[in-house]
Amino acid sequence: MSRFEGQVAVITGGALGIGGATARKLASEGAKVFIADIDDAAAAANVERIQHAGGTAAASHVDVSISEDIARMVNEAVDLYGRLDILVQNAFGVMAGESQIHGTALTVEEDSWDYGIDILLKALYLGPKNAIPHMRANGGGSIINLASVHSLLQEPGMLVYEAAKAGVVGMTRQMATDFGPDGIRVNAIAPGHIVGEGLAKMWEENPSGHKFFADQYPLRRTGLPDDIANGIAFLCSQDASFITGHTLTIDGGLSIQLQERFGTRQAEYIRANPDTKLP
Ligand code: NAD
Repeated sequence: MSRFEGQVAVITGGALGIGGATARKLASEGAKVFIADIDDAAAAANVERIQHAGGTAAASHVDVSISEDIARMVNEAVDLYGRLDILVQNAFGVMAGESQIHGTALTVEEDSWDYGIDILLKALYLGPKNAIPHMRANGGGSIINLASVHSLLQEPGMLVYEAAKAGVVGMTRQMATDFGPDGIRVNAIAPGHIVGEGLAKMWEENPSGHKFFADQYPLRRTGLPDDIANGIAFLCSQDASFITGHTLTIDGGLSIQLQERFGTRQAEYIRANPDTKLP
């Protein structure tokens, strides 16, 4: 199947994890992909993997927290491939200093707030700012923003991440409104816990912790990058031509449960104490 034959896709954070799988998925269906990432070695390895499988890919060193890098990313992709159809805004992750932005309104330092919002939210306005003129020239395009279940559900000590990811959902709907008339669809994906290369290493050292995590999910497993890449490919494709402004939750059912993990813990409590009377 070649749903993206003749199309060009830029993927931020396309070296590893969700972005890495997305680059491979879109390339496997005909897209020429441009990987924009700070990890040059991992980006080069993914380019090689795509080319080895018969796809077309290139990479560039891009830090999405730097405005000039985002502008250069779009220019380089268009110079190389002649057009731009798809922009997947995904960069950030376990290896990008997530711990720097943990904390509450009382403990987060202003520079951590600025860093988190720059990379998780501002970058997702700068990407379209640079990409949309090229998409307009083609008569349309597709933008995918990585949100999270943390856009929808709260956890203690996640102020910056959750503020930014909730903003991603609003920004997605807003840009869909502005650029729908240009044939540009803007959608988001809200993943649950997705185990890419970085998290796999962490869980290898703590299999019982991983099992506990997986057991919070109705499907009793955590996700894989391909689970998200498949959703991104669907939303970018003509199969989704009437879908815009939507946030697609791909989380193995995590967020459908009553108050997420609390609901699961409550269910466990009730199983252990069958005579209990809880509301
Ligand atoms: P990951 O750490 O596996 O991969 C992230 C990629 O982004 C890496 O290739 C990394 O080098 C690159 N990157 C990091 N900082 C960058 C920067 N400043 N500029 C350019 N590239 C940069 O991450 P992941 O788990 O695949 O997450 C990808 C996206 O999905 C993120 O937006 C994350 O918030 C979101 N998400 C992930 C999960 C999850 O459980 N993995 C859940 C919900 C949402």
